[in-house]
Amino acid sequence: MWEAIMKMPEPDQEVLAKRDYLVRRLKEIVRNPEGVIDRETDLRAFECDGLSAYRQLPMIAVLPETKEEVAEILKFCAREKVNVVPRGAGTGLSGGALPLADGVLLGLGKFNRILEVDYENRCAVCQPGVTNLAITDAVKADGFYYAPDPSSQIACTIGGNIAENSGGVHCLKYGLTTNNVLGVEMVTMEGEIVRLGGKHLDAEGYDLLGILTGSEGLLGVITEVTVRLLRSPEHISAQLIGFPTSEQAGDCVGRIIAEGIIPAGMEMMDRPAIHAAEEFCHAGYPLDVEALLIVELDGPEVEITYLNDRIGEIAKACGATVIRQSRTEEERMTFWAGRKAAFPAVGRISPDYMCMDGTIPRSQLPHVLARMNELSEHYGLRVANVFHAGDGNLHPLILFDANVPGELERCEQFGADILKLCVEVGGVLTGEHGVGIEKRDLMGEMFSEEDLKQQQRLKCAFDPEGRLNPGKVFPVLHRCAELGRMHVHHGQLPFPDIPRF
Ligand SMILES: Cc1cc2nc3c(=O)[nH]c(=O)nc-3n(C[C@H](O)[C@H](O)[C@H](O)COP(=O)(O)OP(=O)(O)OC[C@H]3O[C@@H](n4cnc5c(N)ncnc54)[C@H](O)[C@@H]3O)c2cc1C
Repeated sequence: MWEAIMKMPEPDQEVLAKRDYLVRRLKEIVRNPEGVIDRETDLRAFECDGLSAYRQLPMIAVLPETKEEVAEILKFCAREKVNVVPRGAGTGLSGGALPLADGVLLGLGKFNRILEVDYENRCAVCQPGVTNLAITDAVKADGFYYAPDPSSQIACTIGGNIAENSGGVHCLKYGLTTNNVLGVEMVTMEGEIVRLGGKHLDAEGYDLLGILTGSEGLLGVITEVTVRLLRSPEHISAQLIGFPTSEQAGDCVGRIIAEGIIPAGMEMMDRPAIHAAEEFCHAGYPLDVEALLIVELDGPEVEITYLNDRIGEIAKACGATVIRQSRTEEERMTFWAGRKAAFPAVGRISPDYMCMDGTIPRSQLPHVLARMNELSEHYGLRVANVFHAGDGNLHPLILFDANVPGELERCEQFGADILKLCVEVGGVLTGEHGVGIEKRDLMGEMFSEEDLKQQQRLKCAFDPEGRLNPGKVFPVLHRCAELGRMHVHHGQLPFPDIPRF
């Protein structure tokens, strides 16, 4: 096992010195005696998230069961100047739930109940530790589902999904988490319980719900969630389309969307991913193509039949050499089996891989795929591509061997170059995995110093002391007071005409 180096804030020795006192007091707040964990062996379970190259034992882990307990814990930690890291299932891929050596890890796993299913308002009210898939499981017998479907949906929590604004195969047509959340209850670091949005379709005032979605545990702790439910589609079908080059596949994606067709999902795999997936789960993928698209349509049967034909014509015009349409539900599931198993399949062909996550304008797909091949040659590292092509959300998997000296560093450099490329072509650093610690130090590629300060001012409005999840997202740590500082040169204020508060 290799350990990577990531600079985190220095642990506060004064906080560490009062650990026993903190444990004692937290045990008084959390009623369940097993809700406060302080033994090293038990804390191991929380030492990392899905970005397992980075590990850190938390000082203490706390597993509250009610929002009142969450509020008391946060109030107490704020008073004692203790930092807090919220955690759902720990499946995050950017290190957002990485603990702090001098921090309390606040696990929301015990908030695991669906509180209400309300078909009249087409929504479900859940606790944040409910898994994504459990929501659909609870309503599917009645013909409903929750649309955003991260591949980790069997394990990841809806609270984590909101914190990361998670996506999935079906977000192309139905939107990301942010488009499917109607309301949340959250607790601020000061212990105030706040409700944003609700069962209604629009919230009053500023879009604070939009701000909280994707805030990566830096603004508040989510203790309840209201999500939108959709009617299950009448009919679903998928097409498997193979191309001689990745550029042609990328071109086809753009042309389908330009035609006005929004598939339920449009996923792409390149040759290394196709071969790894086929070897792993025998989905019947063609092995003589360089790129494979899976295009799924849902809706009324007559519409799907028409659109399937149209997509076939577009694919042919783009040079497709294989076009197969699913004839049965079983066949559709087989098409998906390879895609869904692609990550573990790639894990079998390389000792290590790093999964990147960036988003580009769809029209740039052919250019970015070609550049990525050049970078792969430059760094001498193979790359397998499995991604949400319709959204322009790339997931290049860089293959490397951590036991070969220098390969991890080359892999990290390669990954950084891919993300810079995404920004260069008008895209963004992350699609759905968040910034966390993984992309923290690349934020300067995307945002100016002034942009970052502006974002930090927003953070300060929620958490003035910067106690929630410090060390994540922002490349430089500022206390809010420092942000307000200004440089006065020879007694001259900048913008002297602007009133000072
Ligand atoms: C195999 C695999 C496949 C994946 N596929 C996808 C995919 O297709 N799409 C996708 O978007 N992601 C994917 N992910 C990433 C991950 O599953 C998502 O980011 C998910 O939303 C994280 O949820 P979690 O409950 O595990 O959160 P955690 O990892 O525990 O936490 C993630 C972040 O959310 C914060 N947080 C968690 N709960 C709360 C809360 N209640 N209040 C405030 N902040 C909170 C944490 O502080 C942290 O910053 C995948 C991960 C794996 C391992």
